[in-house]
Amino acid sequence: MNRNNFVQSEPNTTNSNDATVDCHTHVFCWGEKPEDGFLSRKTQNSILSRFLLQYTGIAREKGNNISEKIRNRLLKDFKNSSLSHIVLLAQDAVYRDDGQPDHGRTHFYVSNDYVLNLSRENPGIIPCCSINPLRSDALQELERCHAEGSRIIKIHTAIQGADPSDPRFEPFYKLTTELGSVLIFHTGYEHACTVISQKFTNPNRLKRPLEHGITLIAAHCGSCGFWDAEDYFPDFIDMMSQYENLYGDTAVMGSMARLGALKRLSKLSDSIKSRILHGSDYPFPSTRFASANPITFPLKSHISPLQMDLEVKRTHGFSAGYENRILDLLKTTPSLVGLVS
Ligand SMILES: [Zn+2]
Repeated sequence: MNRNNFVQSEPNTTNSNDATVDCHTHVFCWGEKPEDGFLSRKTQNSILSRFLLQYTGIAREKGNNISEKIRNRLLKDFKNSSLSHIVLLAQDAVYRDDGQPDHGRTHFYVSNDYVLNLSRENPGIIPCCSINPLRSDALQELERCHAEGSRIIKIHTAIQGADPSDPRFEPFYKLTTELGSVLIFHTGYEHACTVISQKFTNPNRLKRPLEHGITLIAAHCGSCGFWDAEDYFPDFIDMMSQYENLYGDTAVMGSMARLGALKRLSKLSDSIKSRILHGSDYPFPSTRFASANPITFPLKSHISPLQMDLEVKRTHGFSAGYENRILDLLKTTPSLVGLVS
């Protein structure tokens, strides 16, 4: 398929039902300006990072340094998809016991301002700031991010060493409830980056914030790799049955590492499937082998990875609102997230 044949995003969508939203995408900073974000030397040299750089051919992208190339590629891939919006995630640091950032143990960082600025400059990008509740200024940052337009906040349980059931997070959850923000927690074993604890990724640790009534998204639906010591998907199902304010996204579930995960998800009850949200985990690629019909799924070698992921997930027919439910959760419409002038 020629790139010119891609369906372009439609910037005139006026209601949520017409929107197609990817609620879980990433941008990385290499570290040329560490205040924007960085990957640690260990992460830069990891097999996965090297694979992604090679696989995406990022060196050929426009830009003066790797971070600019990554950003430009994201914008191009978004434009070359039929998505009307993407939710773009920041990534907070690891913090010491005194609440100060622990740069030595932080392997993946993207500042909130980097994502907020990208969102301001690019209609269709919905900012998702990231706040580690262990930081000493967590409450101030939560208020600031809300005021700047981030109505959804990411907490990476494994990489940031944040246990959702930690009683010290109570004030953070209280303020989240008052502001009406949505929280998205990483669930399921993490493979892309150095972790502090995989145990924190078990969905059954989400009881505390859920009891506050917070609208909460379990990223990756608790799915794990087939080689992992545990499988948290059954815990995800159990929690979804108990809490109506719990949702799940399909990020990374179309990848080779999660083969079979989408199929398992598609067999769940309608009550659970009506709370599943579309997310890719871009730039981690999805494969046709994760579609419901891998044999007949058309070959699309040059398609935008965002579009590829969307089309793989569409074959599983999750539910009517699967592609734009996130806008309802954020209590917003396309016009409020900068899509309509
Ligand atoms: Zn992710």
